Amino acid sequence: MAIAATLGFPRMGPRRELKRALESFWQGKSTEAELGTVAADIRRLRWRLQKEAGIDWIPSNDFSLYDHVLDMAVLFDAVPDRFRGLPDGSLAQYFAMARGAEGVAALEMTKWFDTNYHYLVPEFSAQQHFSLRANKPLAEYLEARQLGIETVPVLLGPVSFLRLGKVRGQNVDPLSLITQLLPAYGELLNALHDAGVQWVQIDEPCLVLDLTDTERSSLHEAYTYLAAQSVPKMMLTTYFGSIADNLETALALPVQGLHLDLVRAPQQLADLARHGWPEEKRLSVGVIDGRNIWRADLHESLVLVEQAVSIAGLEQVHVAPSCSLLHAPWDVELESDMEPEVRSWLAFAVQKLSELRVLKRGANDGKDAVAEHLALSREARRARTTSPRFYNPAVATRMAQLSGLRLARASSFAQRKSKQQERLQLPPFPTTTIGSFPQTQSVRDTRAKWRKGQISDAEYELFLQGEIMRWMVIQEKLGVDVLVHGEFERTDMVEYFGEKLDGFLFTRHGWVQSYGSRCVKPPIIVGDVARPEPMTVRWTSYAQSLTERPVKGMLTGPVTILQWSFVRDDLPRHEVCRQIALAIRDEVLDLEAAGIRVIQIDEPALREGLPLRRADWDAYLEWAVECFRIAASGVKDETQIHTHMCYAEFHDIMPAIQAMDADVISIETSRSHMELLQAFEAFQYTNDIGPGVYDIHSPRVPDVQDMVGLLRKAASVIDPAQLWVNPDCGLKTRGEAETLAALQAMVMAARQLRQEP
Ligand code: GLN
Ligand code: ZN
Repeated sequence: MAIAATLGFPRMGPRRELKRALESFWQGKSTEAELGTVAADIRRLRWRLQKEAGIDWIPSNDFSLYDHVLDMAVLFDAVPDRFRGLPDGSLAQYFAMARGAEGVAALEMTKWFDTNYHYLVPEFSAQQHFSLRANKPLAEYLEARQLGIETVPVLLGPVSFLRLGKVRGQNVDPLSLITQLLPAYGELLNALHDAGVQWVQIDEPCLVLDLTDTERSSLHEAYTYLAAQSVPKMMLTTYFGSIADNLETALALPVQGLHLDLVRAPQQLADLARHGWPEEKRLSVGVIDGRNIWRADLHESLVLVEQAVSIAGLEQVHVAPSCSLLHAPWDVELESDMEPEVRSWLAFAVQKLSELRVLKRGANDGKDAVAEHLALSREARRARTTSPRFYNPAVATRMAQLSGLRLARASSFAQRKSKQQERLQLPPFPTTTIGSFPQTQSVRDTRAKWRKGQISDAEYELFLQGEIMRWMVIQEKLGVDVLVHGEFERTDMVEYFGEKLDGFLFTRHGWVQSYGSRCVKPPIIVGDVARPEPMTVRWTSYAQSLTERPVKGMLTGPVTILQWSFVRDDLPRHEVCRQIALAIRDEVLDLEAAGIRVIQIDEPALREGLPLRRADWDAYLEWAVECFRIAASGVKDETQIHTHMCYAEFHDIMPAIQAMDADVISIETSRSHMELLQAFEAFQYTNDIGPGVYDIHSPRVPDVQDMVGLLRKAASVIDPAQLWVNPDCGLKTRGEAETLAALQAMVMAARQLRQEP
């Protein structure tokens, strides 16, 4: 019989109970025992939900108080020396590694593959010694068993674990530590085996990446070693893409099962059919999308399951989600404000469990046994993708006309630059900010009151105008050259636009963990995206009416809106992105028509959209850049287009950055001491650049001379005529007093540079 399996479940609880418990513990308002109780309650709830939903393979150790990669580091005692001052194995030490503590910097944090989940980067020393510490996987397994639930402990595989980490301060490949790690890993599996664990799920998501020969041989070494110990059976689990050229490697490993993500890469089944499936090996097929919120068309999923059955045999097949459900929100039934019809199109983690149960039945008892479920699921999808409320023929018409649009600026950058300068009359080293000003308690309180209907639209707008006016005066007094209105009307740079565009849905409880206790609630792009009316023109024009200096209009770019939303699955992503780009283009043109001379289109998520495999980069960058150009290219030469990206590496995407052809790009550089500019220098980037001169993540007021030093450094690699002066990113999370002081210092630094020969 085929069985239903899950690979992991959301951790926060239906109402983000874990978030609250963590934050109250960190604030010293609750005890470790109280935190432990909440965590145990959530674990129990997750197990019971899965059990009751008919899931046969229920994971354990997929829960974490902060992050599962950090858990592995702590489990194997990979604790850097700077945390040794705290009691080993204590929660204080664990949270210090996650969040930092007095005088001790946290581990670095970075994105988990191409998701919006962030993991803590394990930090090894070149002589790293690994040993097994308090056995969390075993403890959670036993905890579930006490509740009468047999579980499959989930472990991050040794090769992915090392590959995701780094060796501190030295040019040493973390994979060279595999020989040291394996005995500890073996000891862990051994202990699980002794406790009666039948199967473990070992995640090796690195198998969907481009692997080097060293990485392949590390996999071989690791699993050969582990298989020779007395260990539970191993289900090797991959997700987020195709294992493609790593298939041979994966199939040659001495493990008893393999999980593949068939949502992202259904063609893997054909590869398997060609290759042949080893007898007695379990094949786990990820057919329910763990990365999106749509109810599946179970007909289509069942076809994949049936193919898997014909390849591996019914006894060997596991029906599973594509990846852990960690990346999906908890339960769509909590969306009580949502229309039932719309709700019926969605499946969050809890709903996905029922989908798995139907598929398992379909596999075992035949299609007819689940005919009604299949029909309903297909109908939900049909209704969603043809809904007159979300399908807009005008969008299709515009998309068809796209090829007739000019997707490049009319003139070269050099020509535009002189026309813009004539109009804007900016000094050398012009100063500006990235968009947002501090969202003080009073801004947040007033918005909350307005949302609850406690104050009228008119009162709220008057309040926003007051804030804008106050900040226009401040910026003029400080002597900033290109002003912004401050984004006081926005909570979130994607949500704000989503709420004003057609085609978006919003949830109340659709939270997904981003890191630690932080969750995001991505908007849902359900249908055709169109802009019924201008979105920002009023606020920007109001700000411009208060000053002679140029006010910069502030928009979120199409790639970033796409990247930070759940996206409809009935159109390719690039098509959805083009629709958004057209809507932003309209807004850009309306701002220009309203007399706005400078417009910034933020694309902080452009880089994170890069596919996991190098071979797919060019295709992505091509449409991503095209979408930016759709948004930006409609304006006259005199209108200056800015973009902003708040991250580090540019060296490998410079052709794309140049092809965006923004007149000015502002980037985050202060923490890297302008080293990032090297990519721009090496590429001989021609347009203007605003390298951030101070870190906005810290409340510290930057020193004028430090910024002068950074600017001199920038001016030594980039033509000073190309340089702008701005902070690293928006100032929304900062306090007002420190922001004023910081901006004053920044303007002074720019003035000093202007004096220098
Ligand atoms: N304009 C936005 C702001 O200032 C940019 C934010 C970002 O880059 N993430 O807040
Ligand atoms: Zn930024």
